[in-house]
Amino acid sequence: MRPSVSGSRAGMREDIARVMKVADRPSIVMVEGQGSWLWDDAGNRYLDFVQGWAVNCLGHSPRVIVEALHGQAQRLINCSPAYYNEPMARLATLIADGTRLRDVFLCNSGAEANEGAIKLARKWGARYRGGAFEIITMEHGFHGRTLATMAASGKPGWDYLFEPKVPGFPKVPFGDLEAVRRAVTPKTAAVMLEPIQGEAGVFVAGDDWLRDLRRLTRELDILLIADEIQTGIGRTGRLFGYEHAGIDPDIVTLGKGLGGGVPLAALVAGERASCFDYGDQGGTFNGNPLMAAVGCAVVETVRDPQFLDAVAAKGQYLIERLRALSVELGHGEVRGRGLLVALELKDRDAADVSRAALDRGLLINAPRPDTLRFMPALTVSRDEIDQMLDLVRASL
Ligand code: PLP
Repeated sequence: MRPSVSGSRAGMREDIARVMKVADRPSIVMVEGQGSWLWDDAGNRYLDFVQGWAVNCLGHSPRVIVEALHGQAQRLINCSPAYYNEPMARLATLIADGTRLRDVFLCNSGAEANEGAIKLARKWGARYRGGAFEIITMEHGFHGRTLATMAASGKPGWDYLFEPKVPGFPKVPFGDLEAVRRAVTPKTAAVMLEPIQGEAGVFVAGDDWLRDLRRLTRELDILLIADEIQTGIGRTGRLFGYEHAGIDPDIVTLGKGLGGGVPLAALVAGERASCFDYGDQGGTFNGNPLMAAVGCAVVETVRDPQFLDAVAAKGQYLIERLRALSVELGHGEVRGRGLLVALELKDRDAADVSRAALDRGLLINAPRPDTLRFMPALTVSRDEIDQMLDLVRASL
């Protein structure tokens, strides 16, 4: 059923001209969302397999988030980060329990969480490793769009943007343990990586490699930082992506799904790494009760083992059906874990396919010219996966 649409469409067209052009957006204006579906201001309906770039883990406007926002907005929206508040403390405990790490700093975006991780590793290096400040990161990795997180990223084309770059991020090929070993020097404080390189096109770090990396970083007495911003909060069928390898990182960063659609992120550190002094980290909105209340509702929903098992099962179903489609249409590899999946295309431009899908009422992401990425709500149904596959087949 289509929700009611309000507002003047002509006025909306004039207003969107004022929005800074930092992305090549289609000229549609989204007005409502429910579950896996979105509606634009002309009343067109879209099946959403982008979900805010893997952000809306419970789909659009889920009841638990609406209720958490409503209830908390009536009690307390912001009391300043100078004071503790109840949702902040509750969410910190939920995240600490889930990660088995000790200290949680709540913030507003994935890039901000990663900036915090970089600062923490540098502080740790200064204090415990003779001034070490370098963080080894991965080719094709993605950690955000601030100056330091862009320098930490290995995204092709970013090497010479916004010069001078923040120094201290030597890169190694993803999956190459010997390259990490060779890159470690007395200046090295940490290694940082995504358990699945999402923006690069969904490349899964092997579990063995992650275990070896954990062993090596312990042996060399440097920190291991897991950027779980895309893979965390149930996306891979476990609460955190690194759990598949059975490792414990020293620092974990969370974002995207943690807020289920609202701006919320976290820097999480174990006892060994957690060395900020008062004043080293902070920010006006950090740990505000309104967003933290949403985070509590999300984590309490997602950490349920039945919920996570369902994500893993639907992910398996999506992968199997995509593999069959790929064979049928002569396309390439299907990669991923849980509900973070990619299909490699042969002889088709993924951006063209994504545009053709939009015309048919499907939102799908093309992170690379040869790759489609699927990151639906974790609550997506098998029927919606089937509908998506029909639309992808037609778009291809
Ligand atoms: N790290 C990873 C792995 C991401 O996928 C992203 C966003 O796509 C970020 C960091 C940056 O998060 P944000 O866009 O919230 O700053």
